[in-house]
Amino acid sequence: MKRTAGQDRSLTQRWRPATRAVRGGTWRSEWGETSEALFLTSGYSYEDAATPAARFAGEAPGMTYSRTQNPSVAMLEERIALLEGAEACRAQASGMAAMTAALLCQLSCGDHLVAARAAFGPCRWLVDNLLPRFGIERTIVDARDNAAWEAAIQPNTKVFFFETPANPTLDLVDLEAVCGIARAHGITTVVDNAFCSPALQRPMEFGADVVAYAATKLMDGQGRVLAGAVCGTNEFVTTKLLPFQRNTGPTLSPFSAWVVLKGLETLDLRAHKQSETALEVARFLEARVPRMLYPGLESHPQFALAQKQMAAPGCIFSFVLDGGRAQAHAFLDALELIDISNNIGDTRSLMCHPASTTHSSVAPEAREAMGVAEGMLRMSAGLEDPEDLIDDLDRALRAVGL
Ligand SMILES: *Cc1c(COP(=O)(O)O)cnc(C)c1O
Repeated sequence: MKRTAGQDRSLTQRWRPATRAVRGGTWRSEWGETSEALFLTSGYSYEDAATPAARFAGEAPGMTYSRTQNPSVAMLEERIALLEGAEACRAQASGMAAMTAALLCQLSCGDHLVAARAAFGPCRWLVDNLLPRFGIERTIVDARDNAAWEAAIQPNTKVFFFETPANPTLDLVDLEAVCGIARAHGITTVVDNAFCSPALQRPMEFGADVVAYAATKLMDGQGRVLAGAVCGTNEFVTTKLLPFQRNTGPTLSPFSAWVVLKGLETLDLRAHKQSETALEVARFLEARVPRMLYPGLESHPQFALAQKQMAAPGCIFSFVLDGGRAQAHAFLDALELIDISNNIGDTRSLMCHPASTTHSSVAPEAREAMGVAEGMLRMSAGLEDPEDLIDDLDRALRAVGL
C-alpha cells in the first residue's frame, strides 16, 4: 500500500473541506487505482512469525484482523476525522453501534450522565433502559435550556449526551454554552451529529469532545448501507474506544465503508442542496399546517442559534397536524411521490410518523413530554425538484382537508 497526500496530516490539515471530502485518507495499492480499493478480507498473512508478534504487541504498524483494522475502513476513518476536524475516528457497524460504543466505552457502574429529553428513540432507550441495568444513572433535561444542564450536574456526572437538531422535534442545543458548562466540570460531551453531518455542523469547533454519527444518514446519503462513526481525541480513541471496540466487535464491514467513502465525495453538495429544498418546501407548508418545526424558518424559536452553529439548517423538518394519528396516517397514505419511510438523509424524499415508528420504543408519556405529538410527521427532503415535492404535499394536504 502506498500513502497518498490524503494520508499526510501536514498536508490535509491545510486542505479545505471539499478537498478533504474527495481525497482525505486515500491509500493506493500497487495498481495505482484512483477510486479507493475495497479490501474484503477478514484476516492478513505475515512474512514471518515475528511480524504478527510485533503488531499484536503494538510495536509495529500493520493490520492484524478486520475486527480491529481494515484498509478500506481505515480510509473512511481518516476521511471522517478530517471532515470533522477530529484527531481520530473509528467507524462502527451502525449509528446505534456508534452511540452505544461512545457511551459504554467510558461509563461505569456508579457514574451519572445527563441526557437530552428530545432524542432519537433508540438513543433514549439506551439512556432509559440499557445504562441503568449497569448501574449508570441519568437525569433527563430539556436540552434547549442551558441552565438545566448545569443544574443536573452531580459529583459523579461523567457525560452529557445529546443530538442537535434533535430527532424529530428539531430542538437545538446551544453547543458552545453546553459544551462550555461540561468542560468547566470535567464532563465529556457526546454529540450525536446525525442530522447535520460535518458538512453542516462541526460540534468540535464549539467545544464538543466526542462526536458520534449515524453515517447511514447523510454520509452514505443514498439509502444503501448502515454505518456509524465515533470521533474524538487520540487519547479517547486509543484508551477508551478502541479497547471496547476491539473486544466487543461493533465493526463496520469494509464493503459498507467503501460505499460511505463514495458518499462522502458528494456530501457537501447533497447536504447543501437538500437543505435548500427543505427550506423551500418548509416555507410552502408553513402557510398550510398548524405547526412547523424547522430551524431554517424565522418562526423557529432557535432560529438565531441555528444561524450561529449550523452552516445550513439541514434537510429534515417536522410538522404537526391537529387531527392526531388518524390524520397523520391519512396524510402519508395520500402521498404519491414522497415515500413513507423512516430513514433520513437519502437522495429520495421520505416521510414518516415518528410516534408509530422511530419513537414507538419510547414510553408514551416520555414521547409526549419530548414533544413527539400523535399528529407529528417528519420529512427528509431529497434531491428531487422542489416543485414536484410541493405538488405532492399539496395533494396530501387537500386529501386531509387542509
Ligand atoms: C438514525 C439515527 C441514529 C441511528 O443510526 P443507525 O445507523 O440507524 O443505527 C442515531 N441517532 C440519530 C439522531 C439518528 O437519526
